[in-house]
Amino acid sequence: MKNKELEKNTPWDDLHEECGVFGMYDFDGHDVASTIYYGLFALQHRGQESCGIAVSKTDGPKGKVTTHKDMGLVNEVFTQDILESMKGDIGVGHVRYSTAGASTRENAQPLVLNYVKGTLGLAHNGNLINANELRRELEYTGAIFQTTIDSEVIAYHIARERLNSDNVEEAVRRAAQKIQGAFALVVMSPRKLIGARDPYGFKPLCIGKRDNAYILTSESCALDTLGAEFVRDVLPGEVVTITPEKGIVSDTTMCLEKERQARCIFEYIYFARPDSQIDGIGVYDSRIKAGRFLAMDSPVEADLVVGVPESGNAAALGYAMESGIPYGTAFVKNGYVGRTFIKPKQSNRESSVKIKLNVLKEAVDGKRVIMIDDSIVRGTTSDRIVRMLRDAGATEVHVRISSPPFLWPCYFGTDIPEREQLIAYNRTIEEIRDVIGADSLGYLEIPRLEELVNGLSICKGCFTGKYPMEPPKEDIRGDFER
Ligand code: SF4
Repeated sequence: MKNKELEKNTPWDDLHEECGVFGMYDFDGHDVASTIYYGLFALQHRGQESCGIAVSKTDGPKGKVTTHKDMGLVNEVFTQDILESMKGDIGVGHVRYSTAGASTRENAQPLVLNYVKGTLGLAHNGNLINANELRRELEYTGAIFQTTIDSEVIAYHIARERLNSDNVEEAVRRAAQKIQGAFALVVMSPRKLIGARDPYGFKPLCIGKRDNAYILTSESCALDTLGAEFVRDVLPGEVVTITPEKGIVSDTTMCLEKERQARCIFEYIYFARPDSQIDGIGVYDSRIKAGRFLAMDSPVEADLVVGVPESGNAAALGYAMESGIPYGTAFVKNGYVGRTFIKPKQSNRESSVKIKLNVLKEAVDGKRVIMIDDSIVRGTTSDRIVRMLRDAGATEVHVRISSPPFLWPCYFGTDIPEREQLIAYNRTIEEIRDVIGADSLGYLEIPRLEELVNGLSICKGCFTGKYPMEPPKEDIRGDFER
């Protein structure tokens, strides 16, 4: 399926993250491509459509960058030969799921840009809300874009700002002050590795170290995979510059007061791997808490608590711990169902959900089951899973959701469908319960969200319609194609 546009072919009702970013600079001059490969492999859950790596030699000719990117999973796109041919002690990498810009090879990242001061490599996670205006502005002054992604707008702005800045980090900061929305950025210049996080901190980014090499990564789980130590999170609004001469240099000019920060709460509830820590909060702990809160706020008598894998599992354990009802495994998941999965036709007897999940009949037969899931988007999957539990002999199925109902779109990088397609739109909880065929239904309450992350300031826009910044007037997703 390489080199051709892939249909978004996900046959279930999941949400999607946009991307994962990774950067590395080895001060001892060792090649970094294969370490970036393993780092991206640990971030694969953040995007499965395309991936890429760009590396450069800091002692070589300024700006000689080697890039390889394509459609596909990390282990499909890279071979040992490719990695060994990629020489360089500094590099950036990216895994992508597209929410802005089509799913094509041209739109794969990292982006590499040659300009008058050298070469830039850039990987971006998040969606910008003013990319259209900025792009038009650039086009009127002669810029020709190679892609339809908003990340290229950032790269152009950095290149342009560099002409009037003393150094590349200042150019990154100036560009970052122009762009609005969500961004975690990793930028490679000929001699520097730079990380930047938007002032609201929508998307995560952290710093790690292994021997004499520094790493920037969307999630800390990648550091564990590589045997690297966690140094710290990049602060919301911070720009960090990593060089052998000065180590980590921090610029906090763009940082906002803590109360205005707005981390995407869905990183904790669903996107991030449970073994990651984001801004000092363990993702697994926050999911356990969500389950405990559900048990406190939506109790029900039952024999067994089960999670819909993977992200429902920790919340189910939390519910079991709080309620005293035994925790069990009811589902076996086929982990091999990926991006290129061929969705069964309506006429086929195979069901998409059943291909992904099977129920352990002996675990649920004759039992009153509490089923915990992280979210209900359209509701199409939930009603099938409830039915599967009943078919396997569950006498009652009580559904508990470890997030509040989705009612509004996201402009910052999460692929939430149109309002009209959301099951919670214009329906009461009782009506939703009826649609999915559950005996009872309970959602996490909105005030509980901050408690999941020990009071950190978060974004709740998709639940409340109140966004941390003025949302665009129209749907901006895919505008460049239009
Ligand atoms: S609107 Fe929802 S999904 Fe989007 S950033 Fe905010 S919390 Fe995350």
